Amino acid sequence: MNIILFGPPGAGKGTQAKYLVNKIDGFQISTGDLLREEIKKNTEIGKKIINNMNDGKFVSDEIVNDLIKNIILDPRKKNKLIFDGYPRSISQAKNLNYLLSESNQKIDSVFFLNVDKEIIIKRIKKRKILEKRSDDDLETILKRYDTYMKTTKPVLDFYSKNFSFHEIDGGQEISQITKEIEAFLNL
Ligand code: AMP
Repeated sequence: MNIILFGPPGAGKGTQAKYLVNKIDGFQISTGDLLREEIKKNTEIGKKIINNMNDGKFVSDEIVNDLIKNIILDPRKKNKLIFDGYPRSISQAKNLNYLLSESNQKIDSVFFLNVDKEIIIKRIKKRKILEKRSDDDLETILKRYDTYMKTTKPVLDFYSKNFSFHEIDGGQEISQITKEIEAFLNL
């Protein structure tokens, strides 16, 4: 089973992804985590992306597509992929389609955790204190939210028309969101 989790920053994608990883013995693909790791290790990619990340802008499709390629094509992870934060553009969605069909896989379910700006702001403020994430100051959060909603909208439209797509109220308690995901997946 391969699953995509959509949702603006702070909607709880990461939390639900980790839950699903445990539940189905899967692998989380968080492009945000992969990119932050590149910055932390100060790699060539890290140096290229740090400004965009800190500005709340998207990293180029080329860099992101390249980072996830080997994970998708890894036979040990086949049909156990939980996408968290990818794809975020039509170009990334096309790339994902291509890599999945190359490896005889498909997307089984897509979830959109929809949540309004006010709740996101409260949550990320809390997370900033807990995790000390460098890209999490308030202004950046708002930019990231707007960028996400604007750029990802066409991607959501695409998945809602062509896939098993479920919109969930991401403003609910974490456990309630988990329950709804479980119900859709018959877990
Ligand atoms: P996230 O942790 O998913 O909220 O991502 C944090 C930041 O990483 C985003 O604001 C973007 O700058 C960058 N990023 C993460 N995933 C992607 C992606 N699929 N495409 C482009 N940029 C991304």
